[in-house]
Amino acid sequence: KGPDPDLVAIAERMATVKHKILVLSGKGGVGKSTFSAQLSFALAAMDFQVGLLDIDICGPSIPKMLGLEGQDIHQSNLGWSPVYVESNLGVMSIGFMLPNPDEAVIWRGPRKNGLIKQFLKDVYWREIDFLVVDAPPGTSDEHISIVQFLQATGIDGAIIVTTPQQVSLIDVRKEVSFCKKVGVEVLGVVENMSGLCQPLSDFKFLRLTETGELVDVSETVTKFMREKAPEMLNLVASSEVFDSSGGGAAKMCREMGVPFLGKVPLDPQLCKAAEEGKSCFGDPKCRVSAPALKSIIEKL
Ligand code: ADP
Repeated sequence: KGPDPDLVAIAERMATVKHKILVLSGKGGVGKSTFSAQLSFALAAMDFQVGLLDIDICGPSIPKMLGLEGQDIHQSNLGWSPVYVESNLGVMSIGFMLPNPDEAVIWRGPRKNGLIKQFLKDVYWREIDFLVVDAPPGTSDEHISIVQFLQATGIDGAIIVTTPQQVSLIDVRKEVSFCKKVGVEVLGVVENMSGLCQPLSDFKFLRLTETGELVDVSETVTKFMREKAPEMLNLVASSEVFDSSGGGAAKMCREMGVPFLGKVPLDPQLCKAAEEGKSCFGDPKCRVSAPALKSIIEKL
């Protein structure tokens, strides 16, 4: 029996891709796609040639996070052409193929695997430095498929995104052990939504009345600060949103012997940038989250 023709075709396609990075998470909603999107923006801003492949087939949020909603992919004699955000940042997602973005994709494993295979075989990425793969949450069929399909050409490693609380970290342990089993190096773990952090001037101030109502007193408080202590308006306030008394991702990384890459705060401005499909780097409003993300990316 000769080599699997699909794997041969994938290996040929991947010959023009220097590095392949998987972005994983144990749970949904922890910021995996946000991280994949911002990582791709950052690499592109460093003048690398970047491809972002979204294989989160049941919840493709990458087109929106890159500002590409409603775009179509095109086919040429070289294969499916990604949608370009910039000349050095191409994106491929099932989101581009769905006639209605509100439609749920209910596919069984084999069909999902078929599409992943097709993405790897048929997308013409040109010569790129990085292919960032945004995987679905968990360790399902799609993960085994992508690892199997890419194994022949090598995967540089995986970045795992989590929130600080125990329920999310338990699933990260599963993710780490999955990587170890299939022989994918864990490049590190990112603790996202690690405390709400925002300039004091962006907060609303509310007074709790005796009847339990919240009354907006922001104007009075801001006026007071401006007059009495203007330097306070430059302070950044932070609050632990999730219970990280268990030591968070840093402790788990020490226990599991994988690198801890750092924390990204819960920053409403980052959420806004993601909603608008923009890079947080160079956005002065993302002054809390952008430096945190930058220092993580520099460690890779
Ligand atoms: P996942 O891919 O893990 O399901 P998403 O990346 O879609 O999660 O993030 C879920 C939501 O949380 C999105 O609206 C996103 O913009 C927001 N979000 C992610 N990380 C942060 C953060 N650090 N600060 C604020 N909002 C965030």
